Amino acid sequence: MRALRRYHATFFLGMFLFFLLVSDFRHLRGYDVSLFLELDPLTALGGLLTSHTLYKGLAWSLVILLSTLFLGRFFCSWVCPLGILNQLAGYLFNRRRPVDAYADNRYRSIFRVKYYLLTALLLLALLGGLQIGLLDPIALLERSFAVGVLPAVHGREIPLYPYQPYFHGGILISMILLGILLANRFMPRFWCRVMCPLGALLGVFALRAPLRIRRDVDRCTSCSRCLEACQGGCDPHTELRVSECHLCMNCIEACSEGALHYGLSQPRSSVHQSLDIGRRRLVESGVTALALFPMLRSSRSAFAHPVPEVIRPPGALPEGDFLARCIKCAACMRVCPTNVLQPALLEAGLEGLWTPILINAQGYCEQYCVLCGQVCPTAAIRPLSVAEKVGAKPFPHPIRVGTAFFDRGRCLPWAMHTPCIVCEEMCPTSPKAIWFQSVAIPDREGKPVALKQPFVEPSRCIGCGICENKCPVVDQAAIRVTSVGESRSQRNKMILKGDVA
Ligand code: SF4
Ligand code: SF4
Repeated sequence: MRALRRYHATFFLGMFLFFLLVSDFRHLRGYDVSLFLELDPLTALGGLLTSHTLYKGLAWSLVILLSTLFLGRFFCSWVCPLGILNQLAGYLFNRRRPVDAYADNRYRSIFRVKYYLLTALLLLALLGGLQIGLLDPIALLERSFAVGVLPAVHGREIPLYPYQPYFHGGILISMILLGILLANRFMPRFWCRVMCPLGALLGVFALRAPLRIRRDVDRCTSCSRCLEACQGGCDPHTELRVSECHLCMNCIEACSEGALHYGLSQPRSSVHQSLDIGRRRLVESGVTALALFPMLRSSRSAFAHPVPEVIRPPGALPEGDFLARCIKCAACMRVCPTNVLQPALLEAGLEGLWTPILINAQGYCEQYCVLCGQVCPTAAIRPLSVAEKVGAKPFPHPIRVGTAFFDRGRCLPWAMHTPCIVCEEMCPTSPKAIWFQSVAIPDREGKPVALKQPFVEPSRCIGCGICENKCPVVDQAAIRVTSVGESRSQRNKMILKGDVA
């Protein structure tokens, strides 16, 4: 059984990495690269609570929940890539003498923390604040790989990208993953036992599973070898805590008496412990969530008032709906071909931490690309066709993500008497959103210099940011895009002559 679990785990970890690697505009050939996020019941439940809808892909998570009801918490050791990595890290970093392993693997009251975290996150979601992605293991792992691990691994020997990508705050995100893996040094599967809210949710669903690890009390000699091998810290040597059991099956193999098996109850099998959570602590977690929600909303956020630098990808829902669905998985950032999508730090408020924003100094939105909407597992960025994005028939207008503005104090033709037409050349719209006025301006000596001074036609600008990205004033471009005019918002508009949709 343990060998079977290992093959299974290797297959699923391999599949997770494969999907990450093919989440690239050169290799994405219809693979369902969001499968692991779609299988995740916690993101489905969180999204259901905040947006009152279940995005169709997330219906897969019901398969995991229903299976857990009958089989127990199998997801943690057989499917979850972070659980599998933790198991591997524990094997590498935590090789202990049997007597230490007995102490390490006993159930401890600190394991309850994950239930309190789950309660706080679900209550927050119920109030409208979706922060589940911060701690959900699949979103956390995908984010860490997308913005930290893969860009760090990329190089001449392992070419993962056509260029070197950079992500703001990527180092912090990958340090968190590193910390989680190193924690195995102090307690095997620390994350899964103590912190994981998905593990807690599955633990609750596993409580009445008819299939579980059973101990034949007549055969058991109380040698505790099963405890030495246990991954869950669920006390298989006494009364097994079924909500903590990851079904690693190590205990069955470790028992030389054949006293343990996975299956239905037998007349002389051991009694099982129910969930160990304190009511008082549960209430405290609820109160914390109640206090946290207004704090999150009171920080400066694009939800309360449009923020110029919060430029969301094309197809992003209006800010409130977007925050109610985005799980901060960074799948969109991984697939974006130009590196323009970056994890927000505090630009979108605390609530919008690590949600995607366009930073045009880093890249620009490619006119015929719609990849971010295709891979988003929750439809926070809805899937667009190219025709809808560019405003081809039957769509009356292109999707706008913002509007470009000149900084005349930095623009070469406006401020330095120097000819430059880069922004106009780069502008992909037809007719172009940038146009020129020919002028003759006297220089310092009074000699007239013929120049073309650029202007933006806001009704044509789609906010793609290529002008800002390619502007020869490199450190801070002389033309910059802000979010005003974005199609997704009725509020974030300018009053203009003519039709600006
Ligand atoms: S549509 Fe724009 S933002 Fe989205 S992936 Fe493509 S280039 Fe990036
Ligand atoms: S953002 Fe710049 S390049 Fe893009 S449409 Fe507007 S003016 Fe043109």
